[in-house]
Amino acid sequence: MVKGYYPKTINEVLEILSMEEEHMLICGGSDLMVTKKFAQNMIFINQIEELKEIKEDSNKIYIGAGCVYKEMIDNEIIPEVLREAIKHIASPAIRNIASIGGNICNASPAGDTLPVLYAMDAIIVKAFINKDGNLYITRVPICDFILGVRKIALEKNEMVIAIEIDKESYKNMTYSYYKKVGGRKSSAISKLSFVGLMKIENNIIKDVKMAFGAVGPTALRSREGEKILIGTKISDIEEKKEAVINFYDKLIIPIDDQRSTAKYRKKACLNLLNDFITYKN
Ligand SMILES: Cc1cc2nc3c(=O)[nH]c(=O)nc-3n(C[C@H](O)[C@H](O)[C@H](O)COP(=O)(O)OP(=O)(O)OC[C@H]3O[C@@H](n4cnc5c(N)ncnc54)[C@H](O)[C@@H]3O)c2cc1C
Repeated sequence: MVKGYYPKTINEVLEILSMEEEHMLICGGSDLMVTKKFAQNMIFINQIEELKEIKEDSNKIYIGAGCVYKEMIDNEIIPEVLREAIKHIASPAIRNIASIGGNICNASPAGDTLPVLYAMDAIIVKAFINKDGNLYITRVPICDFILGVRKIALEKNEMVIAIEIDKESYKNMTYSYYKKVGGRKSSAISKLSFVGLMKIENNIIKDVKMAFGAVGPTALRSREGEKILIGTKISDIEEKKEAVINFYDKLIIPIDDQRSTAKYRKKACLNLLNDFITYKN
């Protein structure tokens, strides 16, 4: 028989997780209900107010792991490019229950918040309590938290409590770009997605961040590829384009699956990349 826990605080969850038995966290259940792989002991975390906080200070924003997409779309603290990606996830009904923490911890290659979080160097905040009851909070960059398809760096006694994003990573960008390619306009799982953020000052590219979704085991981001563009004058961008596209052509190795072919994915990714780096302002 499945045993259910309904804790009201993060501390209560961590106490349950510190017990010997295996437990599974369930937030909105929109991924777990589909896989139907439930543990003997389920911890329902969708009633925990502390996990639904969205707040900011002068340097960073803090998004509770239990925040659902509907709340995030409506909150202006959430970066515009992340809200744009979320608007393309599932349908309104799912967006009312599905959480950002669930999207990260499910670690699907097609998870739509992931490329955006990679591009913004998001930090995953984890918590656990040790045998003596002391609370520990650790912070891991998202690229070190997601280890592969449905593999994350999370111990049995840990949970994700929040996501932190440095405002520097998106606030001063001149423009941002997000595109998701699916089988239809709404309620479609990504065939691929692309996010780009570019900072231009005095007609020179000062910074650029680009990430691709659904074209590898994890979201794909390369600082090496981005560096090809950094320092380029806008007037010289056409000359750099070929080098950038060739770089990502080698780096992106998608697969064929039920949603798309590797060939289509590669072609569409490079087209979106081309579109992004063609400065339009
Ligand atoms: C019809 C449908 C359409 C969908 N469309 C999309 C789409 O377009 N794009 C997309 O990216 N996804 C889509 N999804 C997938 C899903 O909605 C998202 O991944 C969602 O964000 C999962 O959140 P959840 O709260 O429902 O996760 P849950 O199902 O509750 O949990 C998912 C996993 O995360 C773990 N987990 C949850 N919270 C925590 C935590 N705080 N700490 C540690 N582990 C945790 C759970 O144990 C589980 O392993 C769709 C799903 C459905 C059913």
